[in-house]
Amino acid sequence: MPRSEKEKAAARIAELSRRIEEHNRLYYEEAAPVVSDREYDALYRELAGLEKEFPDLVRADSPARRVGGKPLEAFTQITHRTPMLSLDNTYSEGEIAAFFTRLQKLLPGGRIDTVIEPKIDGVAISLLYENGKLKCAATRGDGTTGDDVTRNVRTIENVPLEIDADSLEVRGEIYLPKSRFKMLNTEREQAGETLFANPRNAAAGSLKQLDPAIVRRRGLKAIFYGAEGMAAGSHHEVLELLKKTGLPTAERYWKASSLEKVLEAIHELDAIRHSFDYETDGAVIKVDSFQQRRIAGFTSKAPRWAMAYKYEPERMETRLLDIVVQVGRTGALTPVADLEPVFVGGSTVARATLHNEEEIHRKDIRIGDVVVVEKAGEVIPAVVDVKKERRSGKEKTFHMPETCPSCGGNVFRDPEQVAVRCMNVSCPAQVRRRLEHFASRGAMDIEGLGEAMVEQLVERGLAKEIAGIYALDEEKLSSLERMGPKSAANLLAGIQESKARPLWRLLFGLGILHAGATAARSLARTFHTLDALMAASLDDLQRIPDIGEVMGRSIHTYFQDAGNRALVEKLRRAGLNFGEKDERVAAVAGNLEKTTWVITGTLSRPREEIAEIIRQRGGKVIGAVSKKTTYLLAGEEAGSKLRKAGDLGVKVLREPEFWALAG
Ligand code: NAD
Repeated sequence: MPRSEKEKAAARIAELSRRIEEHNRLYYEEAAPVVSDREYDALYRELAGLEKEFPDLVRADSPARRVGGKPLEAFTQITHRTPMLSLDNTYSEGEIAAFFTRLQKLLPGGRIDTVIEPKIDGVAISLLYENGKLKCAATRGDGTTGDDVTRNVRTIENVPLEIDADSLEVRGEIYLPKSRFKMLNTEREQAGETLFANPRNAAAGSLKQLDPAIVRRRGLKAIFYGAEGMAAGSHHEVLELLKKTGLPTAERYWKASSLEKVLEAIHELDAIRHSFDYETDGAVIKVDSFQQRRIAGFTSKAPRWAMAYKYEPERMETRLLDIVVQVGRTGALTPVADLEPVFVGGSTVARATLHNEEEIHRKDIRIGDVVVVEKAGEVIPAVVDVKKERRSGKEKTFHMPETCPSCGGNVFRDPEQVAVRCMNVSCPAQVRRRLEHFASRGAMDIEGLGEAMVEQLVERGLAKEIAGIYALDEEKLSSLERMGPKSAANLLAGIQESKARPLWRLLFGLGILHAGATAARSLARTFHTLDALMAASLDDLQRIPDIGEVMGRSIHTYFQDAGNRALVEKLRRAGLNFGEKDERVAAVAGNLEKTTWVITGTLSRPREEIAEIIRQRGGKVIGAVSKKTTYLLAGEEAGSKLRKAGDLGVKVLREPEFWALAG
């Protein structure tokens, strides 16, 4: 018997609710979504549409009526004084017009002034200041109760701990600056860790960290756009007061009283938003007058006086020429889309990650397909859709190889994760990646040992593992292409020089799974020598604040392995610094004695790390520039502090000068 429309709708509502709940969990609780916002919003809209059509099928716990995700168990909960709601959103200008018409009905007669501001793509936050001091900070959670992240928010550099106001609750967004996002992902890539898909997920993941020291190093920032308890009658007054109070606000907002002006503002914002250091995913249109807001009121989920207009992420169609499988340093096999080059989101894209086999099958991506590539802002390009109607029938289904594409060795499927790994440590692709990493600028920084050179060395069997670099000599190098005596001598000098690098660089260079540069520095600071580190128990390692459980186990296992211990012995015989030389450097520290520093702008290393280097050498680091400041260390995009230093005649150093001075 054919099912009735209503039965079909009930089944679809159940299916959509289940899928949306799962995406909510991944997005809000794990900070690791598996679909784009656009795909999520389409599911959501379908559910909201069906619920409107069949009101008696609406479940009391429908995800279309709730805000956010569940609070996290690891944190204490804070109940918001007033709920933190969501925003109704749309991708269509037509719906902005409908929103305006609705407002006119809700607020008849009078003129409706609105404010348009950037929609910051971060994590919603509420801060409570009491007697001028930051008392607590909470995430939105389910809108009523959020996680107490006060300790983490205290580490955010542009959040003032004290303000000139008695009691104030402010609301805004925590974000990871785009520049920090890039650095963070580079570090994670070098440490063999999974990358964050975009700055929002990175910010959400960072704010959830249980160790505030880690949060500090991530370099989060905040922007505020609302407050309770301010003597103001309109939104634009609040924005001005926030600014005056020293709380960071967006660089611009627009006022508009007609639909036409609103659309103009939305377009203007779209034209400039890529220059901001935070991701924006839209514009928020808000009724300015609080009196009018009170009349308009709220739904269970969002205010009726506001609407978010979301910008379409940039998308282009192109052909998927092939799916190539790359072997990473740790043996992980990753399928990568080889695309016909296409210009999207401000750059030419020829490759896009496909994450894993499961993802390829879920989206039914086949080799030869016309696919849709998306690149929103800084986001890594992704294949988001397949034009199935344009298939010729010749497209090929992809299967992950059963053996390693580089060495032909067995691959291992981790049942816990979706990852597939090549288990052969001598696999040429892995060796190449390990050598590249070891020699890279962030690690041992070996002059002349770039990707092309590493490839030749591995191909000719001249370096079968890291220690092989130190067994190279003029004779061996002479057999290589384009290698005259002069280049050979330069390369050998670079290799020789690397032997004295500080211990942390060697540790990082070894490429231990999960252990990035920050962890390597912590290990070197704690144990001083490689021998002491190798003798450390699992407990000793896991107790170090930067290391934690998973990384501790990975480091411990690494040094238990007979092959790795043999490698360490070879490096010792080659004469590498295992930490003894670092101590001598530490003994001459003190070269910044009696200097006072202010650090500003974006630098190549986290600010706290640089501050520590200054302190170790006897210098003092303070927050604001004054006549007593000896140096202002100015990174990229330095602003008001740089101007002030100029006014006061304080000496400004750029990074290279700083490193030279710090030795
Ligand atoms: P939202 O992010 O679309 O909008 C509401 C939020 O915007 C507010 O809570 C606030 O935090 C933020 N905001 C930023 N700038 C603002 C400003 N100037 N003024 C006011 N608020 C501002 O809604 P949401 O409820 O947080 O999340 C729903 C959205 O999240 C979905 O539409 C979807 O895009 C995304 N999402 C994606 C997935 C996924 O799997 N990809 C899953 C769940 C949610």
